Amino acid sequence: MSDLTKMSAAQLAKAIAGKEASAVEVAQAHLDRIDAVDERVHAFLHVDREGALAAAAKVDRGEVTGPLAGVPVAVKDVIATKGVPTTAASKILEGWRPPYDATLVERLRAAGTVMLGKTNMDEFAMGSSTEYSAYGATNNPWDLGRIPGGSGGGSAAAIAAYEAPLAIGTDTGGSIRQPGAVTGTVGAKPTYGGTSRYGLIAFSSSLDTPGPCARNVEDAALLHAAIAGHDPRDSTSIPQPVPDVVGAARLGATGDLTGVKLGVVKEFAGDGSEPGVLSAFHESLEALVKLGAEIVEVSCPHFQYALPAYYLIAPSEASSNLARFDGVRYGLRVGDDGNRSLEEVMSLTREAGFGPEVKRRIILGAYALSSGYYDAYYGQAQKIRTLITRDFESAFERVDVLVSPTTPFVAFPFGSRTSDPYQMYLADLFTIPTNLYGGPAISVPCGLSEGLPVGFQVMAPTLADDRMYRVAAALESTVGTLTPPAL
Ligand code: GLN
Repeated sequence: MSDLTKMSAAQLAKAIAGKEASAVEVAQAHLDRIDAVDERVHAFLHVDREGALAAAAKVDRGEVTGPLAGVPVAVKDVIATKGVPTTAASKILEGWRPPYDATLVERLRAAGTVMLGKTNMDEFAMGSSTEYSAYGATNNPWDLGRIPGGSGGGSAAAIAAYEAPLAIGTDTGGSIRQPGAVTGTVGAKPTYGGTSRYGLIAFSSSLDTPGPCARNVEDAALLHAAIAGHDPRDSTSIPQPVPDVVGAARLGATGDLTGVKLGVVKEFAGDGSEPGVLSAFHESLEALVKLGAEIVEVSCPHFQYALPAYYLIAPSEASSNLARFDGVRYGLRVGDDGNRSLEEVMSLTREAGFGPEVKRRIILGAYALSSGYYDAYYGQAQKIRTLITRDFESAFERVDVLVSPTTPFVAFPFGSRTSDPYQMYLADLFTIPTNLYGGPAISVPCGLSEGLPVGFQVMAPTLADDRMYRVAAALESTVGTLTPPAL
């Protein structure tokens, strides 16, 4: 492994700006690393070698500047990249090359980053393991027989395997944070509306939030700052300044949390998690107390209904969003032999193009939205969403942030949760409440359980993304970052 691939994004940006390394050299080192390990990891669905080297050459020629000039980044395949294949890991979009860039891709370019390629994921971001990718799963760099989390397992595995220093994910119910937790990396979900959804292939529009994946908290904050901020092309984008997440991460790294109140969510701190996860979590709490933090137990009684409410709201929105994949406008078309009706072609296309989990969600969502069931299911779930938001709001009257394990269990072996969908859904037990509320949350490594990484989650009030970076960086300053055994 080259030294360049071991460096953080902050170090790379500095080295390139100071002409100690060229952007082309840095891009080439990461492309070489991808060539060496990605056959085993399978983090990427598409590697854009030419595009990356051309973008890096522009940085070296001084045509592109920016805070992350020359730093490589990998982008989840649910995000539109002009001229570069974008499939959402679905057969229905195989070969689709978008005619435009997502806002965040434009911003990545403006910041000077070099896009290496598109990362693997569960189809349409539905899942917690990447096992629902139509192109085969990603393997966890810590143990190639285990899942890297999902849906953004490719982005998390790419950075854990040193194929990229930075990656972009999207978090609808936990798809940035849970992969971060099980790969020993940092994953942050910004405040909903803090990062633009324009150019994201929509799953659940009231929940989808793009955000950063990195190997340390400062790098995550740098990437967050590069992509965040108001976008008039997204109607739910927040027209307010982005909090100083980079400053907060640097403040946290000094290791002083004097006066900061951490609320331990009572309902998430006990049974339901693996013992090794709980002990890493409790040891982290003790470490944070040594840094000056105060621990307060808080009860969020409606969090227990978050999972069922999410599995009505997200599939309902998905059933509507995915109606556009009809064989007419994008990608796959099946059975168009001149003899079949439009409806038959649509039906054959959707039957062949969608995988089983996507079909399950479309059916569930269409059922929950149908007249007669709307009030009983979708309407009830929306009411629960309001109660969960109130739990957060009353908790934040007493504490600065809430904390919990990120996920109840460490990376599990392939195939162990695919037979029962509910077992897969449990991976997001602790991450989903935040999505329903809309606030920011981060997962930061906090130790190992049976040799596998455990994540610590920090949840903050909406628009207070800086707070979670401060606490996460403080924890990182005592527990350090994690490195998987050599591949
Ligand atoms: N695992 C959750 C789901 O399957 C969350 C997915 C996500 O955040 N995109 O819906």
